[in-house]
Amino acid sequence: MISEEGRGEKTHKKEIEEEKEFEELRKRLIKGLEFYILEERVREAMLRVPRHKFVPEYEQRAAYTDTPLDIGYGQTISAPHMVAIMCELLELSEGHKVLEIGSGSGYNAAVMGELVGKSGHVYTVERIEPLVHFARENLKETCYNNVTVILEDGSMGYSRYAPYDRITVTCAAPRIPEPLLDQLKPGGIMVIPVGNYSQELIRIKKDLDGNIHKKKKGGVVFVPLIGKYGF
Ligand code: SAM
Repeated sequence: MISEEGRGEKTHKKEIEEEKEFEELRKRLIKGLEFYILEERVREAMLRVPRHKFVPEYEQRAAYTDTPLDIGYGQTISAPHMVAIMCELLELSEGHKVLEIGSGSGYNAAVMGELVGKSGHVYTVERIEPLVHFARENLKETCYNNVTVILEDGSMGYSRYAPYDRITVTCAAPRIPEPLLDQLKPGGIMVIPVGNYSQELIRIKKDLDGNIHKKKKGGVVFVPLIGKYGF
């Protein structure tokens, strides 16, 4: 007969084994993304963030496949290769203040939290309230104290902490929202998918004189940005 204490020990042991398994799967996934991940810092950040803790429990086993996954409310956690591409385009450094539109699960914000470090901060805005709670819980469980999740229409940006060194939008806008351009620091970078049926990832650099330079970075598929400056 196993005592209550013994049972507890067994569960704890099982949890440790499971975490080890997830770590192995994560290593394998990141190795498979070599083509997309050029920066060592991005690779290390993605190795550190446990993606299985950012998806609903029934999907944990699928967390280390390179696909978007359902997180409820018609929304998804982006595919890992897309997270890698966007983080690399943003050229994130220690100490950066980042604005993300579209928190979803909080996973992308956690990866960026790793890249900006303790001296930086990620403000991430989500319009669906239950997802705000989902992202907050996931980030709390994984100890990302340098990420703040905000319930708002992010198509208007978030002026309270502006200007931002970096802005990333993880949903597709019909056109680049003017408030986001205004809230980007001179010298800053923004990455945003733009378009309806056919979407293009755009990288925007604001030079020190405030001039905007745009570059197309390839076709993508994202859920729509809904709101005042969205669809
Ligand atoms: N970055 C997320 C992650 O790591 O899980 C994935 C984001 S998901 C592809 C896009 C998110 O954008 C959805 O959660 C959706 O509700 C959100 N969204 C759409 N329009 C928005 C808006 N105006 N303001 C804030 N969030 C918005």
